[in-house]
Amino acid sequence: MKFSILSLFPKYFESPFNVSMIKRARDKKLVEIELVDIRQFATDKHKTVDDRPYGGGPGMVLMAPPVLDAIRHVKQEGAHVVYLSPQGNPLTAKKCRELSEKKQLVVLCGHYEGVDERVITKEVDEEISIGDYVLTSGAPAAIVLVDSVARFVPGVIGHPDANKMDSYEQGVFDHPHYTKPLVVEELEVPEVLLSGHHGKIESWRQNVAREKTEKVRPELLKSKS
Ligand code: SAM
Repeated sequence: MKFSILSLFPKYFESPFNVSMIKRARDKKLVEIELVDIRQFATDKHKTVDDRPYGGGPGMVLMAPPVLDAIRHVKQEGAHVVYLSPQGNPLTAKKCRELSEKKQLVVLCGHYEGVDERVITKEVDEEISIGDYVLTSGAPAAIVLVDSVARFVPGVIGHPDANKMDSYEQGVFDHPHYTKPLVVEELEVPEVLLSGHHGKIESWRQNVAREKTEKVRPELLKSKS
């Protein structure tokens, strides 16, 4: 799967995409990440990519021509073009799985007040939000998007079933996890986990996961039933 990330600061992504699982996925060629500088597509000698909003108001707006050119330059057959925006569809586990099936995701990061609306009309297939708050730019959202979508690309996570056990997959949170040592500051590992009885362990895990979901996100259980 290929991610083409369009932003004003491609260097922003160098560290997060060069460590841990995303780096391994890139090394194994399961995931390709292309970083594109929108400024390269500016046409004047000052490399201008933003201007004041028509109608007045604060801030600057990313101009349509360089952004449209950047999108069209990277877009391949079958690409899905996403604009990261607080006004978009929520990025949920279901949405991540759906996006992981695309051959190429072109990910447009907004800056300043956002992009000229005509970019969205002409070239964006979907706006996606990572939460009900406003970031200074789409760059941090792009890191979240790539990381959460790549986890669903076959082979990226070691065990093929690992993400089926994660929070949200079954409509509830994951269960709590414990490892050595047995006692941490007088807190012991729950006895059932040491019993070796798989049935009891499974049912304990399901109950605890359900209780926490009910306490923190009861609406998840309602939407499940
Ligand atoms: N004026 C815009 C609004 O209120 O809808 C917010 C612009 S924001 C300061 C700059 C850029 O950050 C946006 O164009 C978008 O790409 C990105 N961004 C901000 N919040 C986001 C969110 N919750 N999810 C995804 N991207 C976001």
